[in-house]
Amino acid sequence: MLRPLRRIIEDFQDTSDLTEGLNLLVTRTRQAIEADSCSIFLIDIRTEEFVLIATNGLHDQELCGYRFQLTEGLIGVIAESEKPLNVEDVDNHPKYIELPSEFADDFHAFLGVPIINNRRLLGVLTAESKAIHRFEEDEEAFLVTLATQIAPIVERAETDQIVAEQTSALAHDDTVLLGIPSGKGVGIGQGFVVYPPADLDAVPEKNIEDIDAEIEVLEIAIQQTRDIIQDLGEKLSRSLPKAEQELFNAYLRLLDNDSLAKDIIDEIKLGQWAQGALKIAIKKRVRQFEEMDDAYLRERAADIKDLGQRILARLQLHEIEDLEFPAQTILIGDELSAADVARVPKEKLVGLAMARGSSNAHVAILARALGIPAVTGVTNLPYAQLDDKELIIDGYYGHVYISPTLALRQEFLLLAEEEKQLDESLNELRNLPAETPDGHRVSLYVNVGLDADSSSALAAGAEGVGLFRTEIPFMTREQFPSEEEQRIIYRQVLNAFSPQPVTMRTLDIGGDKALPYFPIEEDNPFLGWRGIRVSLDHPDLFLAQIRAMLRANRGLNNLAILLPMISNVHEFDDAKALILEAHEEVNIEEETLLPPIGVMVEVPSAVYLARTLARKADFISIGSNDLTQYILAVDRNNAQVSGIYDAYHPAVLHAIHQVVRAARLESTPVSICGELAGDPIVTILLIAMGFDSLSTSPGNFSRVKWVARRFPYYQMRAILKEVMKYEDSTDIRTYLEETLERAGLGGLIRAGR
Ligand code: PEP
Ligand code: MG
Repeated sequence: MLRPLRRIIEDFQDTSDLTEGLNLLVTRTRQAIEADSCSIFLIDIRTEEFVLIATNGLHDQELCGYRFQLTEGLIGVIAESEKPLNVEDVDNHPKYIELPSEFADDFHAFLGVPIINNRRLLGVLTAESKAIHRFEEDEEAFLVTLATQIAPIVERAETDQIVAEQTSALAHDDTVLLGIPSGKGVGIGQGFVVYPPADLDAVPEKNIEDIDAEIEVLEIAIQQTRDIIQDLGEKLSRSLPKAEQELFNAYLRLLDNDSLAKDIIDEIKLGQWAQGALKIAIKKRVRQFEEMDDAYLRERAADIKDLGQRILARLQLHEIEDLEFPAQTILIGDELSAADVARVPKEKLVGLAMARGSSNAHVAILARALGIPAVTGVTNLPYAQLDDKELIIDGYYGHVYISPTLALRQEFLLLAEEEKQLDESLNELRNLPAETPDGHRVSLYVNVGLDADSSSALAAGAEGVGLFRTEIPFMTREQFPSEEEQRIIYRQVLNAFSPQPVTMRTLDIGGDKALPYFPIEEDNPFLGWRGIRVSLDHPDLFLAQIRAMLRANRGLNNLAILLPMISNVHEFDDAKALILEAHEEVNIEEETLLPPIGVMVEVPSAVYLARTLARKADFISIGSNDLTQYILAVDRNNAQVSGIYDAYHPAVLHAIHQVVRAARLESTPVSICGELAGDPIVTILLIAMGFDSLSTSPGNFSRVKWVARRFPYYQMRAILKEVMKYEDSTDIRTYLEETLERAGLGGLIRAGR
């Protein structure tokens, strides 16, 4: 059953029209399980009714659109229980309701399964049969599997339809999509869609008017692809065996064969832009080849796809250079990267939203560092349709509004204005310390690396750098930077902040941070080769990095070295031994100071070992982003489980508190450099726990100071004591938010005063 199942899903995915896709799906499903009828009912959330969307078999096709209550009949039973229902003869079921006479309802056996996505019931998929019999278990399993596979698409398609209605100005309600709040603030602007280059599946469909221009662009791209393949074939002709050479010839034949180009041009003539036309034509071809009986020809489907990607790469080449961003850009994509964000001129970027990721994806951290409202994990974001659309991003609640009504726009303009005023009034705190009214002070350090702007950090009153993510300069190059290149980069940062301290974290790659020239392929990257593990296995790289740091520090002496992902005491010992070795080497050239060496506590084992680590290290810094992920066993980047990723979880807060206590017992300075450090809602807790410093992006400083300067230390201690009794993160959040509201600091939690 696997093959028909996969085909049904692929074909469904390939149809751009929801109704057409669902019709195809019911027809194919009915054939696959040999039922007499198959139907899909979806819930209309506005009227809270089931609607028959597609049917094949006994039901009359004309009845599509037929509506009934959510609790009615057998479909209602499925909706209520959210479980499959397999009935031998519907006439014997108490909840069975005679359908209207127009229905040819002479069926008896009934099988229905719920279509659920993200805990939300979207509809019901049913099969019926005239004979009295029970559907087989594997038929039930078939429908269940199908329903789980189509659910996310149905959810997205549903949104797409709403968007389509919205666009044609038929609807006047505001469409709001829900995601994960990932950068506070409100952004109003125009959607600008970024999609991964040379990925046919990610190409959106767009309508164009100048058909001739688009055909010309396509023809140039095809010609260029042809030249490249021919060139490559010639270059390799001596070193390649005959069979492999044949591949190049096959590609050339496909390109020379006018029918492929013609198919693409036909799509362009229907009004599709060249990239979209290419996607549609290639998909059709791929499908034809995949359906062939001959195994050799079936394999050619992969070649067609590869060829399509190559043409696409040429089509996109000039596009990257000519990007024109709207004055108020809202960056939209399936998965945006830090590089995508960096491409938009800072003054034009007012918000971002993406379908994947969560609030701790590195792009979200970057958005916060830049002070940009951001929403991630909008799983049903119809991003391909949002180019040029007017959008509102509410980074407080994680909402994305599409083509908002005038009233809503007005409301958000007001909120944005209030927010601006709040920022301006908070500006007054710029030169004041984060000090409680009764004199307890905490230092504010800055995180750099993702956003290398030291001047804005200093202007915001940073007292030093608490975290320099050194992997970032490694990520933006094509090979490992040389020792001297590294020294220059490190020197710049040390110089910019001198005499204030700069904490440089040694290379923290692996997990979600890949180097293009040093691929790490793992099934479980977050539990794999990352951080200090890579450095210890590559003493060559580690020693070079340390030597570069030590040399850069000469004459300035404001460097501290921080070791990421320490999970064993011996890792610290081994890393320290290597640091001492590098120190000896550079000392021979010139007397060089040995900087303080710190440990990042970001995995549970380090929490349990905190006392020992605090005794051995010169300072401790808590990486709450990873600590949350590892304590709660939840991927920090996975939108599907982002609701579980919660740094307010009592287990996370207890772990952090335990580390601070251990450090204090050893009189070792302790800092926190994860995203929690910049969250003003927990500032009270962090200060009360006894952190010496908080390290965050400068955009958070004034809000953190606002809280720090509002509550006396003894009151913060009392709040911490109370919070530590709570068992649930929701209660903790509510308690803290209410505390801030009562103190007149509600502007920290939501838009507006
Ligand atoms: C952390 O894990 O909290 C941290 C600061 O490091 P990164 O976000 O770079 O993994
Ligand atoms: Mg980390």
